Amino acid sequence: MTHDLGLAWNIADRVAVMYLGRVVETGTVESVLTNPQHPYTQALLSVLPESDATPVLLTGEPPTLPHPPGCRFHARCQLLASGEASPVADLCRSQDLPVLGAGEQAAACHWVTTA
Ligand code: SF4
Repeated sequence: MTHDLGLAWNIADRVAVMYLGRVVETGTVESVLTNPQHPYTQALLSVLPESDATPVLLTGEPPTLPHPPGCRFHARCQLLASGEASPVADLCRSQDLPVLGAGEQAAACHWVTTA
């Protein structure tokens, strides 16, 4: 396990991005790092020095235990805060997401799975 994405790029075949103890995105290193799907992964990668993306500054606070229902990232999600994810906002705040398997690139996000 590493918190260094550059190191992951060089030594790993696959990557799993975690938020509050849950895998939120998984896939090959190349697919996740060049085409992140989950808003948390997008925010992480946006602040790397070599990123061309506009840096995403997360607002809100991580939830305390026990976790509230819904997506564990919903209190800080930039898509929910901006209204972009408003069609799935109720799901974000109420419906837990499935544990991701080890298949192709996948993101535990209602916005991604309904798009
Ligand atoms: S499920 Fe909703 S709150 Fe969670 S990351 Fe996706 S859009 Fe954001």
